[in-house]
Amino acid sequence: MARIAVGGFQHETNTFAPQRATWADFERADAWPAFIRGPELIEAVEGFNIPIAGAVKMLQELGHDLVPLCWCSAPPSSYVERDAYEKVAGAILQDLATAGPLDGIYLDLHGAMVAEHHEDGEGELLRRIRALVGDTIPIVTSLDYHTNLTPEMVKHASAMIGYRTYPHIDMAETGGRAAQLLDRLLKDRRPLYKAYRQIDFLIPLVWQCTLTEPAKGIFELIGEVEQGSRRGAGSPGGSHNQGIVSITHTPGFPPADIAQCGPALVVYGLDRDAAEAAADRVAVAIRDREAQFAGKLYTPDEAVVEAMRIAAHATKPVMLADIQDNPGAGGTSDTVGLLRALIAHRAKGAVIGMMVDPEAAERAEALGEGALLDCGVGAKIGYGGETPVEAQWRIVRLGSGRFTGTGPMYGGAKFQIGPMALVTDEASGVSAVLASKRIQANDKEMFRHVGVEPAEVPILALKSTVHFRADFQPIAETILCVNSPGAHVSDPSELPYRHLRPGIRLRPMGPVRE
Ligand SMILES: [Zn+2]
Repeated sequence: MARIAVGGFQHETNTFAPQRATWADFERADAWPAFIRGPELIEAVEGFNIPIAGAVKMLQELGHDLVPLCWCSAPPSSYVERDAYEKVAGAILQDLATAGPLDGIYLDLHGAMVAEHHEDGEGELLRRIRALVGDTIPIVTSLDYHTNLTPEMVKHASAMIGYRTYPHIDMAETGGRAAQLLDRLLKDRRPLYKAYRQIDFLIPLVWQCTLTEPAKGIFELIGEVEQGSRRGAGSPGGSHNQGIVSITHTPGFPPADIAQCGPALVVYGLDRDAAEAAADRVAVAIRDREAQFAGKLYTPDEAVVEAMRIAAHATKPVMLADIQDNPGAGGTSDTVGLLRALIAHRAKGAVIGMMVDPEAAERAEALGEGALLDCGVGAKIGYGGETPVEAQWRIVRLGSGRFTGTGPMYGGAKFQIGPMALVTDEASGVSAVLASKRIQANDKEMFRHVGVEPAEVPILALKSTVHFRADFQPIAETILCVNSPGAHVSDPSELPYRHLRPGIRLRPMGPVRE
């Protein structure tokens, strides 16, 4: 039995987004738990599909003694404010300093956090922890698929294990895998060799989905190389591959203006040559598929016209992904480009969500079901100079914003997202689901909570880039990706980078950063 500290600090930073992450954003619950520190952490994370929940469960099953630090996350946004970063990092460091003798540390990190004063949020945190605890204690972290994996992170962590799915349905599972690896390091007492590679082109989120090629095939190959290593042990000719312990490839989070933004991978092995060879093999496979990271994007008008054409003969909903207003990537989730197109084309029966507008949601709650809303909807942040949509908004249904997720990604999540409402424009028959906190439209329960059964809607517009596919793709007639203005700018070559390293292509097959 070992004594293992467990904690987490999650933020995905879109440095180009309008809203920063404050301490209050980390302190409150949304789809995931609020800031939690100390012994209560264990119970607070139980049952959530998040890495720390999977890690805690696995470490307990392996018989280890856990020392809870703190865990928190905030919705993706621009920079983490210095005060918030220092409060959380300070709590982790302080608790580690007073924890007594430790055998290992597990951390649930995102990997794409940028603080106001540190562009490599996780690298800096790991550097401070390493300086405190010394070089011998294993530090193992789990990582999001969208990690911008930096040399600093690779240097200070003993090992890191990333998700292998986008939509992320393996979050708790990844925490469990990280816990198993930490357990192995404690038993083996052999340091791992690290083979690190960066890929020299940015990949827009919309083309990173693992349900389709090329990401699907790349992660299959990674699985094969790892499996080959295990099978190879003891078999003739298998010795070369044998030394590979784990492979993590993170396709990156492009809207982060930092030097080390972009896809990368790290192979951990007991054998240097085997690790280097595997790293080369995976890197070549990604580079060979560069041109395949592509697809069709529609303007809002094109998308609505096409959706109405298909919906006229379809039995299942046509889905429109509002990929640039994804709050899971720093979007405000209140832009109105797609909503205006639905209304302009009178797409009767269409529903769009989540329209994050606390003002309108609270107003709807005050006025009550059946009344007409006396304010416009959306565009409260005013991204791109947009203004709220004024219409004959009838308040159809209210919700408390408290419900439990049921989809593959948010299953078990106890949502607390404030007042919600379904409002319908009487002239066009288009509806919007209003929410009070920024949350990505990833789970059918968000719609059912205000009386909408997603499968029965002709056109469903979702403010999400890829995650919605986990719960919604199985009931979709087809999915059209829409490029309406939003704070998650999909094509990185449109972003005004200042810190990104030179030489990297700004999109697959795209222009080179000078
Ligand atoms: Zn992610």
